[in-house]
Formats: sequence, structure tokens, C-alpha cells
Amino acid sequence: MKNLLYINGKWTGESLAKVEVNNPATGEKVSSVPRGGKEETLDAVEAAYKAFEIWSSTTAYERSSILKKYYNLIIEHERELAELMTKEMGKPLTEALGEVHYAANYIEWYAEQAKRIYGETIPTHDQDKRLQVWKKPVGVVAAITPWNFPAAMLTRKMGPALAAGCTVVIKPSSDTPLTAIKLVELAEKAGFPQGVINIVTGSSKEIGEVLLTDSRVRKVTFTGSTEVGKVLMKQGADTIKKLSLELGGHAPIIICNDADIEKAVNGTIASKFRNAGQTCVCGNRIYVQSDIYDTFINSFAEKVKELKVGNGMVEGVDIGPLINYSAVEKVAKHVEDAVHKGASIVVGGNQPEEKGNYYNPTILKDITNDMMIMHEETFGPVAPIQKFENIKEAIELANNTPYGLAAYVFTENVSQGTKIVEKLDYGIIGWNDGSPSAVQAPFGGMKESGLGREGGHQGIDDFLEIQYVSIGI
Ligand code: NAP
Repeated sequence: MKNLLYINGKWTGESLAKVEVNNPATGEKVSSVPRGGKEETLDAVEAAYKAFEIWSSTTAYERSSILKKYYNLIIEHERELAELMTKEMGKPLTEALGEVHYAANYIEWYAEQAKRIYGETIPTHDQDKRLQVWKKPVGVVAAITPWNFPAAMLTRKMGPALAAGCTVVIKPSSDTPLTAIKLVELAEKAGFPQGVINIVTGSSKEIGEVLLTDSRVRKVTFTGSTEVGKVLMKQGADTIKKLSLELGGHAPIIICNDADIEKAVNGTIASKFRNAGQTCVCGNRIYVQSDIYDTFINSFAEKVKELKVGNGMVEGVDIGPLINYSAVEKVAKHVEDAVHKGASIVVGGNQPEEKGNYYNPTILKDITNDMMIMHEETFGPVAPIQKFENIKEAIELANNTPYGLAAYVFTENVSQGTKIVEKLDYGIIGWNDGSPSAVQAPFGGMKESGLGREGGHQGIDDFLEIQYVSIGI
């Protein structure tokens, strides 16, 4: 693997300064990538701009066929991709393999969707006119991605962009550029024409500034923190950049008296502890109704105690390291603040003896609304549980946040569940389901969790312009 920049069909950047990529489980260096900046990004934009003419002129069937080859290549290299991901990011190998499949599925789904980009014929008001809606690719797309899903967050953007006929410039997270580079290497093998896909690693500030201000880039699709999302939105204002923003979350889990306890326990574990709690859709605030509060906590604690912490390359590990030590410090701070304000530790509440960026899976009870953990994205394996008496109170607590990405409800009562879901201001709901994400479904948030949707048939719309054509005949 070359671990270089890929611009206009060439691997480049050997002479640039390097950024080290380290293994969060061991602290050891995995590799390094070039520190690209303004110049390299301008080159990548130019390449993508030129290639747009060729790529946007291909038929949907041609694009679909290359995307299918790309899907097959990702699946053929699933093990290599997953190992790379675990080494640079830390998630357990089985989860990494799961992510590679999830990532590949976005490519396959959009290989099919390329053929379903339909326009419209509008009934005319004038016998001498015909009214139509045409769909066109937006142009050069910049894709900026985070470290927590180094493959899926990228293919969720590349799939629809390429299917629509757009060309792309990728800026992966500096913590996890290797998986992204490997995915680009496979794209090269799949046969995308020169300049259609480009990747620049390095200084996020310099790269971001070009991507957000260059008028040849027509759209920026970003997944990451709300804080950076706001910066990009301001930077993109002068060129009226089209933006898709998949930002932070602070997901509530509401568990009602009539919930099936086993489903609620398994669903909460799936939502809370996947990726060591480092997902944007992780349950971050758990509200349990009073009648089942103790029963739920006991069953939940029994299962959480069984979760194994360690290096993700070791078989049987459920919880890998956090991405870096400051992430561990943030988690510890949230736990300390909660305990200081009256919470009790049911399980965990500390780091294991093993060296590394680990934090033990933790359950806190007697949580109250004044605690930091109920207002900030923790991004770690901590489950804070607050008791509630009535449903109205739970909905108010759940909606009391600037975020609106994912929320979860556990109830067996269809009428009650429907009423709760209708009141929740969240883009994704898992009702008796702790892992609702699916490539064929729209993913995205309300409020400060973002703009636009990725995945599903909706996910391609953001990469298409609507052109209304009135034809005089
Ligand atoms: P981040 O700090 O916002 O970084 C995300 C990406 O933006 C990285 O590639 C980063 O590059 C780049 N970046 C940072 N500052 C930039 C700037 N000024 N201009 C241009 N690019 C810039 O987020 P993260 O820590 O990687 O990811 C965690 C966050 O992502 C969490 O808040 C999580 O909830 C959110 N997330 C959301 C979703 C969703 O679908 N809604 C999915 C996954 C994660 P460098 O690494 O080089 O700084």
C-alpha cells in the first residue's frame, strides 16, 4: 500500500512532511501519510473539475458497472480493510469487518440507484409548451470524513456522488487516513477514470479552506462534530456551497414500564457500547420508567459486566480503546461530575489495568438532569440512567437538547410507542431496535445534528441539481 495522496490518477506527495498514524490500542506507529495542504488540494480540485466533464457524460449503466466492480473489490479485500481499520482506529475486528460490509453495501446500493435517477414531466397549462424536470449531477464534491467509521462514512458519500455523475475530492480524518487510502486504491483498480476520485490527507484547516471557498467545488459533504460543521457552514457562505452535514448526536433511550426487558437490555447494549460508545447514534442518556427501573438496571448490569475490554485484534474483545487519551479524559470527567452530583456507579467507573486508551464499560444510576453527561456527547462506554415517572416528562427530557440525530424507544404498546415517536424531534428512531442504521434507509439529523440525508433513495438527491425545462413546440 502506497499511503500517499491520489490526485488526477497518480499517487503523489512523497516529498511532503508526514503525519503519523498511531494505533490507539498500543500507541505504536502504524504508518504515516503526507501532510497535504493548499497546493495539493487545489491540484485535486482542478483534476476533479476536469474529470467532471467526462464522468458526468457517462451513462448511468456505465457508472453502475464500475461501482459494482468496486463493490466486489471491497468485499474481496474485506479482511485487509478490517485489519487496517482496527489498527488505526481500535474497534474490535469483528466490528471492523461488519463496517467493511456496511461500507461496501453503500456502493452496491448506489450502483443500482444510478439507474433510477428519474426526471419528471409536468402537465402543461399551454398547448404549445412541454414542461419537464431534468436531473443533473451537482459537479465537484468534497467529502470530509471522521475517524469513528473510516470506511462507511466515506462510501456513504462516494456511492451516491459517483452514481449521480459527480467527481470527488476526499479529505479523511488524520487519525484514520489508511482505510480511506486503501478504499481509493481499490477504486483505482475498479477503473474509475483519472481525476474522478482524489484524496488529500494532511492539514484539515488548509485543505478545508480550499474545499469550502473554491467555486469549482459545488458541494461539500461532511461528517463530524457540530462544532466543525458550523465552521464549514460559515466558510462556505461566500460561494453558496451546497452542504450536507452529518453532525454530533446525544441520543436518548426511553424505556417504558411495558417494555420487553430483554429487548431493552440488548438494544441498549447495541446502541451504547458499539465502537466503545464512539458513534454519533450511541444512546447517551437512558431514561427508565419507575416501575421497571431496578429490574432493568439489574439485567443490564449482568450483561455489561460480561463485556470484554482490550485490543481489538484479540478475539472475543467487545470494547476496544478510545481514539486517544483526551477521549479517555473526557469520559472520566463526565463520570466524576456525575458521581460528584449524586450518581452511583453500578458497573465500571474506571480504567482497566491494561495500558492504553481504555475505559471500562460503565453504568451510572441516580442520574439527574443537572449532570454534564446529560448535556454533552460523551463518546465513550458510559451508560447514565435517569428514572422518570410519566411519558410526558420523558419526552420533554429527550427533546431538551440542541441535537436531533437518533433516539430510541422501548415499549410493547403500539399506541404509546406511536405517540412517543411522533413527539420526538429526531431524524432516526429505533423503536425496540438498538441498531436502526441500514443502507437503504435515510440517515441524518434534525436541529444541530445536521442537514440533508445519506443512504436510501433520498441519499442521492443532495448530489443532483434540479433543472426545470420549459419547451416551446
Ligand atoms: P471532527 O473533529 O469534526 O473531524 C471530522 C473531519 O473534519 C476530520 O476529517 C477532520 O480532519 C476534519 N476537520 C476538522 N477541522 C476542520 C476544518 N476546520 N476544516 C475542514 N475539515 C476539518 O469530528 P471527529 O472527531 O473526527 O468525529 C467525531 C464526531 O463526528 C462526533 O461528534 C460524531 O457524533 C460525529 N459523527 C456524526 C455522524 C453522523 O452521521 N451524523 C457519523 C459519525 C460521526 P482532521 O482529523 O485532520 O482534523
